Order: sequence, then structure tokens, then C-alpha cells
Amino acid sequence: MDTTKSIEAFEIAKKLMPGGVNSPVRAFQLVGMEPIFISHGKGSKIYDIDGNRYIDYVLSWGPLIHGHADKEVSDALLEAIYRGTSFGLPTLLENKLATLISTRIPSIEKIRMVNSGTEATMSAIRLARGFTGKDMIVKFDGNYHGHSDHLLVKAGSGIATLGLPDSLGVPVEITKHTISIPYNNIEVLKKIFDKYGPQIAAVIVEPFAGNMAGIPANPEFLQAIRSFTTKYGGLFILDEVMTGFRIDYHSAQGLYNIKPDLTCLGKIIGGGMPVGAYGGKKEIMDHIAPEGNIYQAGTLSGNPIAMVAGYTTINKLNHNSYTYIEALADRLIQGLSKAAHTNHIPLKTTKAGTMIGYAFIDHPLQNFDDARKIDAEMFRRFYKEMLKQGILLPPSQYESIFISTAHSIQDIDRTIHAADVAFKRMLSC
Ligand code: PMP
Repeated sequence: MDTTKSIEAFEIAKKLMPGGVNSPVRAFQLVGMEPIFISHGKGSKIYDIDGNRYIDYVLSWGPLIHGHADKEVSDALLEAIYRGTSFGLPTLLENKLATLISTRIPSIEKIRMVNSGTEATMSAIRLARGFTGKDMIVKFDGNYHGHSDHLLVKAGSGIATLGLPDSLGVPVEITKHTISIPYNNIEVLKKIFDKYGPQIAAVIVEPFAGNMAGIPANPEFLQAIRSFTTKYGGLFILDEVMTGFRIDYHSAQGLYNIKPDLTCLGKIIGGGMPVGAYGGKKEIMDHIAPEGNIYQAGTLSGNPIAMVAGYTTINKLNHNSYTYIEALADRLIQGLSKAAHTNHIPLKTTKAGTMIGYAFIDHPLQNFDDARKIDAEMFRRFYKEMLKQGILLPPSQYESIFISTAHSIQDIDRTIHAADVAFKRMLSC
């Protein structure tokens, strides 16, 4: 595999941008190599600037549930672009997307569009604090909710990847209101509520911890969050930035039959354009400006390009889409598990709805302490062997892989075959 042009481009990029990238995990630091630079994508395939073709399991970190350059989404985008890219005034498209989202996720009675997942969680936290009049936030170790100050405490994703427990530049005065505790642990959650219950404004959780190798929440754990927050008058914020419209037709709250007070969305609801949203109970959402006194705004929020891409993407998803993706996901994890078993490689796979994870570890995966035991060296070798064979996986052992409606059984079978070859090569060197 020749990646000369990517290597040259990265040398230039490093002089222009910190680490040569605009988001840390893209630097391929964890897998110990230079990143590939992308030329274009079509369906399940992505092409680098050296002309190499890969089956893509990154899918822009989740949004592209119909694969790259989907015709319907591209056509809708083109039409919208020629009508004007942003007005900063209301459009019918915002009503259309808001209606579609609240039909599929009924707990969202009212919604506010923003421009990223980070903005969605940050604003939901402000709303929870303003609404309850309390300051304390509970989150879970290894859950990633974006990079806002109060949530950058024991976060997963790039933070876990780079081994940073926290970030410089975040004042202790802000994080002292955030408690981070182990995921999937009801006992610790109970202790925290016993001690601080009346001071807790909100509990925020990823229903499938896609930023720490893909660990599903235990249903009882989510139920416990629901009952503790209800009992003490705090809000339950479900971070569905990654799982929203991906894990299930009705998102994670449909799959788990759970009703949060607020939901954060992003990724798929923008169909590949920058977007985020938070929404929930009407009586809570009505506290946001201009109706209420909790301020939050955005120049490009609800812009027609993101709205049209999101609407077309979600509108195209039906129950069969999820059945199809889930069947591919099952086939992939079964194939990977079998190949790992045959080659005596320790590999754990996880699954909830259409979302799957895999990790080089021989313990069960329940929380961040477990995820930290993943064999990083084995992952690195596997990653490079897969890339050489034209399989593009997220370049971090903590990230989930994504499958689209554009992936085929042949893609999955090629991937399983490549994994088998990779395992054999890993053993022989
Ligand atoms: N929450 C979750 C669960 C996420 O996975 C992410 C991004 N991976 C975010 C929030 C932040 O979203 P963004 O990168 O759009 O700011």
C-alpha cells in the first residue's frame, strides 16, 4: 500500500494545525502511523489521495448511516444549497426535522438545534442547572460528552486515547461540580445519591458507551438512573449523540424502553453536516430563551443545509434499515469472534441493537477500568494489518465501529477474511 501523498500532506498539515489535524483522534497517534488523507467516498467505500480504496467503518464517526455521498441526501443538499446556505431566520425545514425527530423519539416534545454534540450536552447541562436550581452533575468514567469544561472529567474518546485524565485549561472551580463514577455500577450510584441527592442537577449517560470500546449500559443501570433522578428532583440526560437514530429506529431510549427528561443528539441528525440538538419535556424546554431565562443561541443553528441533510437521512431510515444493519453487525462480530478463536487471539465483542464493539481483552467489559486493560499493542498491529488489506477501522481501540445501509454482505465477509489474515500475521511476527 503506497501512502506517499498522504505522508507528504501530513508533513505540511503538521506545520499548519496542531498535530496536523482538526480533531485529535484523526492524527492516528494511537496506531503509531501517519493518517491517510481522504479524497472522496462512495457508499461503503472511502478513497485516499494515493488512490487506495478501503471499506469504511469510521463513517465520519457515525453520521453517515447511508454511507458516503448517498444520492438522495446529495440531491437534497444540492437543491437546498442553491436556495441559500444560511438565513439566520426561521425556515420550514426546522419544523420538518423537529417533527420527524419527535415522532421517532416521543420524549422529545420540544427541541433546540445547535451545531455539534458538544454544544448539545453543554446546553442541556446549563438547562438542567437553570431548571433545577442545583449545580452538581453526575457522569460516568469513560463516557464522552464532548469537550466542554464541566464534562471533561474522566472522559473517553480522544481523552482516553491520549491517556489524559483531564485537560489543562479547565478551572477546578468548574469541575468541582462534576462527579464521575463507574459505569454500570448501581451501588456507587446509590451511594452518590444518598450523599448528594438533593444537590444533583442531572445525571448524564451514554446508553452505549461508544467512546470506551462500545460497552452497552445494563438496562437496570439506566432504570436506576431514572428512579434516583426522579426521587431527588434531578434530570436524567440521555446522551444519544452517537446512538440517536443509529442503535434502533427509536434510538436507545426506544431499545431500552426508558424515558429521559432531556436527550442530546448529533451525528445522524445532521446527515454528515455539522449539527447537534437537545430536547425533552415541554415544561423543561420552555425555560430556554426567548421563552425562559436560560440563555443559549447560535448564528448557524438550524441552518437549511444541516436540516435538509438530517431530514433526508432520517426520513430514509425504516425498520428494514435497522434489521439489515443489525444482520451485518451480527455477521461481523460472529466472523471476527470465530477467526479470533481459531487463531487463539483474545477478543471480546459487544452489541446493542445495531451498534457493536470489539476489544483485545480476555475480561468482560463493563466499565472504564475494564476498557483500560485492552491490549493496545495488539490493537495497533491488528489495525495496520487491516488497513493494508483495505479495511478502514477507527484508529483508536476505544472507538466503536459503524456500519451503514450501503455496506454489503461481501464487505463484511471481506472484512472477516482480512481479520483472519491479520490475526495469522500478528501471531507470526
Ligand atoms: N456525546 C457523544 C456520546 C459523542 O460520541 C460525541 C462525539 N463523539 C459527543 C457527545 C460530542 O459530539 P461532537 O464531536 O459533535 O461535539
